[in-house]
Parts: sequence; structure tokens; C-alpha cells
Amino acid sequence: GLSSKLQEAFRKLRGKGQITEADLRSTMREIRLALLDADVNFTVVRDFVKKVQAKAKGENVLEGLNPGQQIIKIVDDELTEMMGGETTTLKKSNKIPTIIMMAGLQGAGKTTTVGKLAKMLKEDDNARPLMIAADVYRPAAIEQLQQIGKQIDVPVFEEGTEVNPVKIVEDGLKVAKENHNDYVFIDTAGRLQIDEKLMNELKEIKEVAKPTDILLVVDAMTGQNAVNMAEGFNEALDITGVVLTKLDGDTRGGAALSIKAVTGKPILFTGQGEKMDNLDVFHPDRMASRILGMGDVLSLVEKTKKNIDEKKSMELAEKMKENTFNFDDFLDQLQQIQNMGPLKNLMAMIPGMANNPALQNVDMDPKDLDRIKAIIYSMTNEERENPDVLNPSRRRRIAKGSAQPIQSVNRLIKQFNQMKKMMNQISNGNMSGMENMMQQ
Ligand code: GDP
Ligand code: MG
Repeated sequence: GLSSKLQEAFRKLRGKGQITEADLRSTMREIRLALLDADVNFTVVRDFVKKVQAKAKGENVLEGLNPGQQIIKIVDDELTEMMGGETTTLKKSNKIPTIIMMAGLQGAGKTTTVGKLAKMLKEDDNARPLMIAADVYRPAAIEQLQQIGKQIDVPVFEEGTEVNPVKIVEDGLKVAKENHNDYVFIDTAGRLQIDEKLMNELKEIKEVAKPTDILLVVDAMTGQNAVNMAEGFNEALDITGVVLTKLDGDTRGGAALSIKAVTGKPILFTGQGEKMDNLDVFHPDRMASRILGMGDVLSLVEKTKKNIDEKKSMELAEKMKENTFNFDDFLDQLQQIQNMGPLKNLMAMIPGMANNPALQNVDMDPKDLDRIKAIIYSMTNEERENPDVLNPSRRRRIAKGSAQPIQSVNRLIKQFNQMKKMMNQISNGNMSGMENMMQQ
């Protein structure tokens, strides 16, 4: 990938006392190829290389860095600059509500992102958002938003599929005012390609809603096309920022690097998965460091802090002591792990891990966690609290209820019992219990 190619380019410079003109030229060539290969826009690459070269040739030697490190620093700085420099946040309107309008092609992730953002504001700012369902072209779109609303406990305004979307937005805003919602999200329709009808509708919505921010949602998997889309939407709507979704997938990352340079509009957030928690604030400097393979310690710390609930950890320690650990606690633990997003993303943030081949094998399928949850959800309260009552007939019932094979139910209960035993032994200061567990 891009990271490993750039690191390879730098490896030759590292530790060199002196860097010749030829060294620099060959490094820049490698960087240029690596960026192009990652699908970064051609003109953006050209400008980037020019800037780095000019700076590298300049006399301003930084104290404490050797020439190789200097160049890495320059590249890091320029990558950061290319992605917008500072972190951009959502604006807050000085009178409520703050209105955030979404735009983007069908399937880009607008509806999902509305849910993720509403959840984030609710949790971090105690916000009371309202989500307006203004995609009337697909009946399922309204239902999708309603389901998300239920999941994150945020109200949805909708008027079915027969009313004009512009009218829906007007009506929704009235309701938001009556209910004193401080944030309104407008979920709009998309199409497979930019067309005039779509753009006109979005322009009209913009006209009546006067949104505080217009966020364009683009799918990172579409590479160069994501950048072209961003340009097209920006020309028509004068968007305020971009959400780059599906960065968890197998993308080459070029879109993240080109969007700001091409459109002049910053990326505010990135989507890292389908779950409501899989949204990250986009920090250009951290992204640059990540691309350069320096590891993103800051992001990792932030993520971990947010998701491991301290109070819950204390309660858990207490339960371990009292040996009352049950399936509800087990579920909590799973939830916390799941909230942290794909394990692979998390591991990649640890310095030195990004290019570790071992990482290729560390992929916990989120579906596995979902299956485990389904099994636990099929247990009665009594069974969750007191797993000892789980006799064969109860296990068969749970298997049926969760649509999982009986073997999976048995395996889960076995794992649970081992975990419980291990916890018990640890809390009694007997570490060999843990060793036994590892050997099983
Ligand atoms: P919309 O048509 O623009 O509203 O797109 P949706 O929000 O309905 O999303 C389309 C599909 O992409 C859904 O299956 C989402 O779960 C999925 N999706 C959205 N954001 C992400 C993301 O960041 N990562 C991944 N892996 N999938 C996403
Ligand atoms: Mg949608």
C-alpha cells in the first residue's frame, strides 16, 4: 500500500548524514509513483512534489533532525497541508436549530452518516437532534432512517413518499422549532449519477433550509470518481465539507488526499464501518502520520478512552471478586469491543503495526460478534444471570430462537464458563489459571 511504499522511499534516506541532489530526486520519484498508485489526482501529485522539493532544497535546517528526517518532516507537513491542515468541525448556528444538509450519490452513505452524526452529537454535546427523511424516491429509505432513529433514540420527521421533499423539509423545520431541537439533519435522496433533477431538488432544499453546513458524502471506494463527484456537487451546491465513507474497506486512500486540493473543501469525518459508532473526526495531521506509517497514537488513545467505560470496568472488577460475572456482563464486554470498530483498524494505529504482516490475520468478523449477541439475546433474564440453569432443552430453545446451530450455543457457554473461571482465578491471585486457559 501507500504507507509501505513511502516508508520504503524514506528507508534509504534514514540515517544518511548527507543527502545528495540525486538522492532527493530518486526519493521524490518514488513518492510521486506511490501517490499516483494510491489514486491521488495527477495535478495534486505534481503540485505536492514541487512543494516538497522546493522546501527540501531550502536552507532552513531544523535542529535535531538529520537530513533524512528533515525530508520525512517536510513530506508529513505537506501531506497534512494537502488534506486541509487544521481539523475542521461542524459549525454551530447562533440560533437553534443548527441545520445540516446531506448530499451525495445513492449508496454513498448519507442516511448512515446522518445517524452516526446525530449519535455523536447526542453523546458528546447532549444535543437533541431531529432527522428529516427527505428521500422520497425509495420507500425503504424512510424506513431505514426510522430504524436508525429507533436504534440511536433520535426522532425522525417524515411525510411518506407522496409529498414534495422541499415541502417535507419546510414542515420538518417547523416541527424542529416547536420541539426546540438544537440540530436538524436533512437526509436527501441520491441517484446513481449526478443529474439535473437531483441537483435542482437539492438546490431548492438548500434555498428553503439555509443549512449551517452542507456535507457531501462520498464513497472512498470509488477513488478518483469520489473526487470528481465532490467537484460536481461543490459547483452546484457550494458544499461546506465532505464525509468520506467506507474507509474501512479496501481503498487506496487517494480520495482522502485529493479532495481538499481539488475542491477546496475539507473532509470533516470519515466512515469506518456500517455501525453507528464507526465515524471518526478527520484530522489531517494524524492521517498524514498514519500514511507515513508513524502510527496514530493519539487517535488510539482517544478511541480507547471513549469506549472503555471506566465505571463499567470498576463494576466488572467487583463482579470478578464476588464471582457473579454473568452473561449480561459478557454482553457489555462484547459491546465495548464492538464500539471500538474493526479490530484491524485499531491495531493499525499502533506504531509499527500498520505494516506488520501479522495484522493480515487479525480480523475479527463483526458478524461473529453479532451471532454471539443473538444467542445471548435469546436467553431469558434468569438464564443470563444464572448460566448454570442452561440445560440441554434450554440450549435447544436458545439455538432455535437465535437461529444459530446448537454447537454455537454450546461453544459460547463453554467459552463463557472458561472466562468466568479464569476471572475467578485471576481475582484470587492465581495466575496459573490464566496459563491453563491459554493452553486450551
Ligand atoms: P445513502 O444511499 O447515501 O443514504 O447510503 P446508505 O447510508 O444507505 O449506505 C449505503 C450502504 O453503505 C449501507 O449498506 C451502509 O451500511 C453502508 N455504509 C455506509 N457508510 C459506511 C462506512 O463507512 N463503511 C462501510 N463499510 N459501509 C458503510
Ligand atoms: Mg439514504
